[in-house]
Amino acid sequence: MGYNQKMFGLGNRRSIIREIFEYSKTRSAEIGAENVFDFSLGNPSVPAPAEVNDTIRELLDTQSSVLLHGYTSAQGDITVRRVIADRINAKFGVCLTPDLLYMTCGAAASLSISLKALIEEAGEEVVVFAPFFTEYRVFIENAGGKVVVSKPMERTFQIDVADFETKLSPLTKAVIVNSPNNPSGVVYSEETVRAMCDVLRRKSAEFGHPIYLIADEPYRELVYAGVEVPYLMNHYENTLVCYSFSKSLSLPGERIGYIAVCPAMEDAKNIYLAVCGAGRSLGYVCAPSLFQHVIAKCIDAKVNVEAYKENRDLLYDNLTAYGYECVKPDGAFYLFVKALEPDAYKFYERAKAHELLVVPCDDFGVSGYVRIAYCTDRKTVVGALPAFKKLAEEYQK
Ligand code: PLP
Repeated sequence: MGYNQKMFGLGNRRSIIREIFEYSKTRSAEIGAENVFDFSLGNPSVPAPAEVNDTIRELLDTQSSVLLHGYTSAQGDITVRRVIADRINAKFGVCLTPDLLYMTCGAAASLSISLKALIEEAGEEVVVFAPFFTEYRVFIENAGGKVVVSKPMERTFQIDVADFETKLSPLTKAVIVNSPNNPSGVVYSEETVRAMCDVLRRKSAEFGHPIYLIADEPYRELVYAGVEVPYLMNHYENTLVCYSFSKSLSLPGERIGYIAVCPAMEDAKNIYLAVCGAGRSLGYVCAPSLFQHVIAKCIDAKVNVEAYKENRDLLYDNLTAYGYECVKPDGAFYLFVKALEPDAYKFYERAKAHELLVVPCDDFGVSGYVRIAYCTDRKTVVGALPAFKKLAEEYQK
């Protein structure tokens, strides 16, 4: 037919989140944005820290065009990678070196590169924990892998370690862990992580090859009330960390992140070279130079996580009072809510009639739930509460 039908399919069928986001724009033009309560997209409303903007200005005023807008090394500027490696070592007590760090255009690129670097043959399996970020399926299949879904524990949405063990096979190449989780907001506990890593070690030995752990960590910094997110390199040597500054510094449009290969990994240097090769083959080289330098100077900057926590509390407290069931999220900026009828799409349509735009989560691997992305401004949260109340009452009648 002259072009790739699989790619046509991906382009032609937008993700449900993008679909709703586009609807929101049309609907806002019709009735005014203030009357549409759009909780569809994980686009941070909390601004980037002031030092990020100050640093951009300072760099523009003081540095050469070649440094700011020219190519860096394919894997990223060495001074930038040194700053990031030092920071990770100080924070988590690991021994990362810059030659195990690869700068990327955000977590999406980090994941695509890592999967491409690891998967050798079509049909190798990658285990994901439901509920999971919908794009994993796209990235895994594009790298030639097969998605295998492990179901969560009921109610807590922690990893079901017993189920996980049954999902590992001699074909398993990697496992993707995302904590704090999109869409549940759950942070996997240290106990769960330990149990999962024990299984991984045991199964790697049984199958006679390593199973790699891919830690997808765009939300690491967004946690509430002192909750700790275990650093997976400290629990399992065959770990690649896929990090992004999209949410931690509110810079999703700048496309900046990295891959860190655990120094304790067997064959770490060669896996890193495979990462470099995968980056090259996908065209993901020389992540944006200006933002590499911004990151190096703002490595300790923080967004106002308190603003997300206040949104979480407002929504969680009120929605549970109205009769909705949801897990109290410890991190990220998503609330995972049980739909008030078995079919989450039908519930989504009924919510839409109240101008509430939430995302049905069937594509995230769990049916009967919707996701509320509460990274919106406070006005949207407060404005939406009466509509959520009315919707619940409608079901109670
Ligand atoms: N992984 C998860 C779990 C996400 O939620 C997202 C974005 O929302 C990504 C990866 C992609 O992040 P980035 O924008 O840094 O590519």
